[in-house]
Amino acid sequence: MGIPFLDLKSPYLELKDELDAAYHRVMSSGWYILGQEVATFEEEFAAYCGVRHCIGVGNGLDALHLILRGYGIGPGDEVIVPSNTYIATWLAVTYAGATPVPVEPDVATYNLDPTLVEAAVTSRTKAIMPVHLYGQPADMDAVNAVARRHGLKVIEDAAQAHGARYRGRRCGSLGDAAGFSFYPGKNLGAMGDGGAITTNDDDLAIRLRMLRNYGSSKKYVNDVAGFNSRLDELQAALLRVKLACLDDWNDRRRTLAEAYREGLVGTGLVMPSVPAWAEPVWHLFVVRCPDRDAVTARLDRGDIGWLSHYPIPPHRQDAYRELGYGERSFPRAERLAAEVVSLPMGPHLQRGDVARVMAVVTGGA
Ligand SMILES: *Cc1c(COP(=O)(O)O)cnc(C)c1O
Repeated sequence: MGIPFLDLKSPYLELKDELDAAYHRVMSSGWYILGQEVATFEEEFAAYCGVRHCIGVGNGLDALHLILRGYGIGPGDEVIVPSNTYIATWLAVTYAGATPVPVEPDVATYNLDPTLVEAAVTSRTKAIMPVHLYGQPADMDAVNAVARRHGLKVIEDAAQAHGARYRGRRCGSLGDAAGFSFYPGKNLGAMGDGGAITTNDDDLAIRLRMLRNYGSSKKYVNDVAGFNSRLDELQAALLRVKLACLDDWNDRRRTLAEAYREGLVGTGLVMPSVPAWAEPVWHLFVVRCPDRDAVTARLDRGDIGWLSHYPIPPHRQDAYRELGYGERSFPRAERLAAEVVSLPMGPHLQRGDVARVMAVVTGGA
C-alpha cells in the first residue's frame, strides 16, 4: 500500500461532526457573504496570531496583493522578495503594478538571507516581503532592522506558517502586515479557497476592509476603486472548527519532523536547518538531495508520494521573462530548485509511515 504525499480526506473524517454542523449552520442561516461567521473567525484568528486585526479575503495571493494596495505601493515601486518562493509572492507584487526584486536565500534554512537584503534596496524600494517558507519563520529581527533603516514596510508571506513562532511570537505578528492562505493543503486549510490579512496597523485595517469589498465602507458608497475578495461564510465557519485543532495538528507535524530529522542523519540527504529562535510548523518537510533522481526513483518504486517545492524558480518562469533574468542570476535558488525533495508530511501521517518513507529513501526497503 502506498503512502500519499498529502492526505486531505482524513482531516475531514476526524472533524466530520463539527464540520458538518458548521456547514448546516451556514446553509440554514440564509447569509453567505460577510456575516457573523467571518467576523467571529477574524476575531479568533487575530487573537491566535496575537494581533489587533484580521481581515478575511478570497485567497492568499489576494491577501498579499491587497496589503500592497493598502499601503499605496504600485507602479514604479520595488518590493524585495525571495528568489526561492512560490510564484504567488512575486505575483502579488506584479498585481499591484510594482516590480519584484529577488534576494537569495540562506540555503541551509531556505529563508531569505537577511545579510543580502540591504544591497538590494534602492530609492524605489517600498517594502520587503519575507516568506516563512515551508512553515519555518524567516529571520525577522534582521529583516525589520533593514526595513527600519530605510523606512520600508515589512509584509510577511505567512501562507505556509500558520502557528509558527519566531522568538516566541507568532508568524503574522512580526511585520507591518501578513498574508495567510487557507488553500486546502495549508496547515490551516479551508474546503475551498480562502485567505486573511493580520496586522496591528489600525489605518491599514480600515482600508483593507474597504478594498476587499468594492472599496466600500457603507453599502453603495464607494470610497476607492476596490476589489471583490472576501472570505465566505461557509469557509469561515469550517475554518473556525479547524483553528481549534491547529496547535494539536502542528504538534503532530513536529513529532514526525523530529523523527525524519533523527532518522535521516548520515544518509547523504541534507536536513533543513532550524535556528534556535525558530519554532517551525512543518507545512512541508523538505530535504536537499545532491543526487535527487536516485532518491525520487526509490520513492517512486516504494509507491511513496513526493513533490519538489519548487522545481522552477519564479525568475526562470516564462511569466517573468520580461525581467531578463537567466540561469546565472540567482544560483542559490537554482541550486535549491535542483536539489529539493518534499517528503510526505501532515497531521494524519502515521509514525509507521514515516519509518517506511525513511527505509525506502535510504534504500533499506
Ligand atoms: C499558497 C501560497 C500563496 C498563495 O495562496 P493562495 O491561497 O493559493 O492564493 C502565497 N505564498 C505562498 C508562499 C504560498 O505557499
